[in-house]
Amino acid sequence: MTDTQYVVETPERPSLPVAGQSARYPVRRVYCVGWNYTEHVREMKGDERNPPIFFLKAADNVMAPGGKLPYPPKTTEMHHEIELVAAIGKAGRDIAPEDALDHVWGYAVGLDMTRRDLQWEAKAKGAPWDTGKTFDCAAPISAVHPVSETGHPSDARIWLAVDGETRQSSSLDKMVWPVADIISHLSGFFTLVPGDLIFTGTPEGVGPVSQGQVLTGGVDGVAELSVEIV
Ligand code: MN
Repeated sequence: MTDTQYVVETPERPSLPVAGQSARYPVRRVYCVGWNYTEHVREMKGDERNPPIFFLKAADNVMAPGGKLPYPPKTTEMHHEIELVAAIGKAGRDIAPEDALDHVWGYAVGLDMTRRDLQWEAKAKGAPWDTGKTFDCAAPISAVHPVSETGHPSDARIWLAVDGETRQSSSLDKMVWPVADIISHLSGFFTLVPGDLIFTGTPEGVGPVSQGQVLTGGVDGVAELSVEIV
């Protein structure tokens, strides 16, 4: 292996802890599904007849458990979106739905934090969502739990509380595209490889958070996370 030299300081590879072992899960890309729960499409004033969509967050937006989320600049409306996250462990493209779950190494729960005001502005202009969806620490995620521990959750409760008050509460069986369908569709656009995380969409109940608040959320039987906004 050659020892490549770089002209500037090289960034550390983003990674997540894995439940029950010291080796970590390396993060390559962070894919996200939008509009995957009908009631959330309604609250976003979207057309529920439209299929879910894909976008990406930057890999270095991933914040491992225990971090504090600095309130981001250029927004007065940062929203929480609690989501099941699938961690890919086997490469593939054009994956059939019936084979899709074989490509999942594990699951976590994550927050697709969103500068909603910037996202609305982008939607109105037909502009990309990047400034709304991507910023430092925009993707807090729990430890990754291997499938051997969690199985493939399909109807578990997904929930989020702000300072102990429940704001989002739904069930994974409300997904328009379940995880296998997401992987199948996504792998038609992109070759999926180990290290790719997929945020699978949020249920209804999204809303603003402010400095000093603590977000606690989870998917029952998979994982929980807790994040303070500072
Ligand atoms: Mn989302």
